[in-house]
Amino acid sequence: MASCSAANPRDYVEDSLQTLRESGARVTATRTAVLECLGSAKRPLSARDILERIQASPEMPKIDQASVYRIIETLLELGLVHKVFPSGHFMACRHSSCGEKLHLLAHCTKCDASLELGVPEQLTAPMSWYLTQQLGFLPTDHLFQVTGLCPTCKSSE
Ligand SMILES: [Zn+2]
Ligand SMILES: [Zn+2]
Ligand SMILES: [Zn+2]
Repeated sequence: MASCSAANPRDYVEDSLQTLRESGARVTATRTAVLECLGSAKRPLSARDILERIQASPEMPKIDQASVYRIIETLLELGLVHKVFPSGHFMACRHSSCGEKLHLLAHCTKCDASLELGVPEQLTAPMSWYLTQQLGFLPTDHLFQVTGLCPTCKSSE
C-alpha cells in the first residue's frame, strides 16, 4: 500500500486545496488556515482548538468560531476531515484519494492518538459485502473506527 503511507502534512493541504477547487468551492485564506491547522496536528482537534491555534498565529487570517464550524462542515462533506468519536474532535483525512476503499481509524482512549490505517482490500471486501448484502447497511464513510488502547498505553497498563 505505497499510496497509503505516502501521506504527509504538506501533501494534505495541497491535495485538499485541489479537492476544494475541483468541487467548485472557493479557496480562501481561512479555509487554507483550517487545513494547515488540521494537517499539522498530532491529535484530533476540537473546533475551539482550531480557532485558538489560528488566532495564536500572527501570519494566519482573522477568523471566528462560526467560520471554523462552517469550514469544517464543508471539509466533512468533501471527505477531507473525519469526526472522531466519542470526543467529536476532527482530524485530517490523508487518504481521500489513496485508492483503498476502506480504512481503519484506531483511536486510543487514553492518549487520544488517532491513526487512519489502510487495510488491504482482501480484508475489507468481505466486511463490505456482509454489511451491504447480509445486513442491508450501506456504509457512506470509508472509515471503520476502533476504540481502544494504543501499543504504548497498553504496555503501561
Ligand atoms: Zn489510504
Ligand atoms: Zn479518511
Ligand atoms: Zn495511547
